[in-house]
Amino acid sequence: MKQILSAILFSTVCLLASAQKTYIWCGTLIDGVSGGPKTNMTILIEKNKIVAVENGFSKPAADDKTIDLKTKTVTPGWIDMHVHFEGETKKGAVADRFIDNPADVAFASIKYANVTLMAGFTTVRDLGGSGVNISLRNAINKGLVTGPRIFTAGKSIATTGGHADPTNGYRKDLMGDPGPKEGVINGPEEAYHAVRQRYKEGSDLIKITATGGVLSQTKDGANAQFTEEEVRAIVTAAKDYGFKVAAHAHGAEGIKRAIRGGVNSIEHGTFMDDEGIELMKQYGTWLVPTITAGKSTADSAKIPGYYTDIVTPKALATGPQIQATFAKAYKAGVKIAFGTDAGVFKHGLNWLEFGYMIEAGMPAMEAIKAATINAADLLGMKNQLGSIEPGKFADVIAVDGDPLKDPKVFGKVIFVMKDGVVFKQDAKSF
Ligand SMILES: [Zn+2]
Repeated sequence: MKQILSAILFSTVCLLASAQKTYIWCGTLIDGVSGGPKTNMTILIEKNKIVAVENGFSKPAADDKTIDLKTKTVTPGWIDMHVHFEGETKKGAVADRFIDNPADVAFASIKYANVTLMAGFTTVRDLGGSGVNISLRNAINKGLVTGPRIFTAGKSIATTGGHADPTNGYRKDLMGDPGPKEGVINGPEEAYHAVRQRYKEGSDLIKITATGGVLSQTKDGANAQFTEEEVRAIVTAAKDYGFKVAAHAHGAEGIKRAIRGGVNSIEHGTFMDDEGIELMKQYGTWLVPTITAGKSTADSAKIPGYYTDIVTPKALATGPQIQATFAKAYKAGVKIAFGTDAGVFKHGLNWLEFGYMIEAGMPAMEAIKAATINAADLLGMKNQLGSIEPGKFADVIAVDGDPLKDPKVFGKVIFVMKDGVVFKQDAKSF
């Protein structure tokens, strides 16, 4: 008996000692935290964690696995802080909500999540849908479908007639009067109800629509739609559940109310004024720019019939402004986290945002940090995500070329590992 026990013990120890590791040889490594790239490095991975980062190309043991990225540039998996997996732009998409069942939305969302992961985005925030985005997150976590780690807001919270009121633009007899359960509030009491409903449904964070927006079927794309008191009630309620609060905001007044009310991030920030920029710095509020959304909606609005008549002028007025505001805010020292609003344009093209940020004056290395360690910081996941360092989740990607020299290289992702599992590998391995 004693012999059997010690044999079992011995084999267990052997198993522990010889747990298979993956060695990733990196020609160039941008680790998300260092000031510059490093050359000829090895990342050691065990299960779903990075266990070491070594100089040179370390030699694996016989049963270890090696991935040869000696001619590639390796970075942490990118993080997009603003996507919508429940839809994708197309001409006349406004009719879809009367045609698609939740299952139709769900099947399409599987494709969008997959192309996003293949584009190198291993983590996203889904900032608003019907709640299918919660089921999608769960399905990915269970391994039923492939996609990025999702932190989802579930249903966005608006005020009556506001940007995320789900029945805007409906005929009167179809409009009804959606309330906190459906994500529509009026007054602080209902703010609490709406936040607690999101908790009940399984959201990871809260999204509010602090101002009008471009693609909703109402006239004003920038007016303030929450009182400061309502924002504060949302933020206070959210804190009880460990939720961060992201605020969609285009207009200057709504931006300022959201910042003073205590939100963690301003999404878009289009018509932010100097006072707004100062408040962002004072409160430590993050800006998630979504320049790609601005440019692509302005382009789509030029195609006759692409949007409804009420949306087209808003897209033309709002879209082109985002990049200039981003440039101003970045230069002033506002904290920036990468986010695109993918869904408003085609999923998988999220990488275009890097080029727009660089074009606006942000160094490429800073843009990569915005999409890695800084985004992880805004998520509250800085200790687990956003860099290639021991102890972090093994989210590792590689591009073919030097993204610090050519922004098009961000679109050439040839390797994707999420949580220690390889999802894409167009490179030599053995
Ligand atoms: Zn959005």
